Order: sequence, then C-alpha cells, then structure tokens
Amino acid sequence: MLIGVLALQGDFDAHRRRLEELGAEVVLVRNPSDFDGLDGLVIPGGESSAFLKLLGEDTFQKLNEFVHSKPTFGTCAGAIMLAREVENPRQAGLNAIDISIRRNAYGRQIDSTIVEAASALGSEPLEMVFIRAPRIESVGKDVEVLARRGDDPVLVRQGSVMAATFHPELSRDQRVHQEFLKLVRNGAR
Ligand code: GLN
Repeated sequence: MLIGVLALQGDFDAHRRRLEELGAEVVLVRNPSDFDGLDGLVIPGGESSAFLKLLGEDTFQKLNEFVHSKPTFGTCAGAIMLAREVENPRQAGLNAIDISIRRNAYGRQIDSTIVEAASALGSEPLEMVFIRAPRIESVGKDVEVLARRGDDPVLVRQGSVMAATFHPELSRDQRVHQEFLKLVRNGAR
C-alpha cells in the first residue's frame, strides 16, 4: 500500500513513522507528480492557513482532485483542509467531508491537552492529543462519528474520508491509523 503524507509544513514525519510501523510504504508529497500512484493520503497537523499559502496552484488542484476520489485522512489542520466550511477566520475548505469546523476553538497553545475517551475503535479508551485544535461544530447526516470529546465529534468518517481534530500520530495507540489503512484496503466509495 502506497500512502502519501502531505509534507509542506507541520507534523508529517510522525505520520510517516506510524504508517511505516503499520507496514505501509510512504511517499512525502510536495509536488503535483507525488500524487501519482498513491492509494491514500494523509494531511497532517500544522497550520492550515500556511498549507493554503504553501500549496502552489498545481499542487492545490491535484490535492483537490485526490481528496474527492481516493481515501484521505486529515488530522487537526488536515481536518480543517477537508471540511465543507471553516470559521475563525473563514477560509477555503476542500469540501471532502460534510463538517463545519472552527479553528483554534479550544483555546491557545498552553491549553493543548490529552484526553482519553471511548471510541468506536474498540473497548480500550482512545488517547487523544489536542494541540490548538479545531472544533467540529456540525456534521452532515452521512458523517459517522467514531469518537467524541464531551459532546464534540473529534473523529469522523464519510465514505473514504476520515478526519480527526486531534493528533493520533503522537499517541502510542495505532488504532486510528489502522482504521484508515483498512479504509484504503477496502477502497470505500
Ligand atoms: N491551529 C491550527 C490551524 O488552525 C491547527 C493546529 C494543529 O494542526 N495542531 O490550522
């Protein structure tokens, strides 16, 4: 399985390591041609506004096509990129998953936190690392919620797109990436 990790900025290397631990082959994606042949893509955390600035027009177009046709997983800033609607401030979303999302909604950097909660990924609680996290404010009817922080959805899936507002690549728990690789294998959609 060949998985791309968008590597313009942010937390891409931890995703690379986790995916490799789980047996995937990983390509760091920086240019339009890097999308060729990928079975799936991870958009990491970082700063979504910086991603939008750093993506040239051609790479943006390839990214846009990819997320609407192949399995994609966005974490934190990556989830913001995939959303239908982005607030605080308003910014373009790729509209690959029917969620509206609010940037930096849980407070400032010092308020970053680790939460353990139940999830759909098994009986063990899931460790979730939040760093200047966005909040998913609404989900469309076709969106499955796989985990919540309090009442807020924090891990969601629609068709072959997954989004997490936390950083699963920073936990020991491999289940979230495993779930994404399952999606890639089953070629949902
Ligand atoms: N605050 C970032 C944003 O708004 C997301 C933070 C992260 O990816 N850890 O894009």
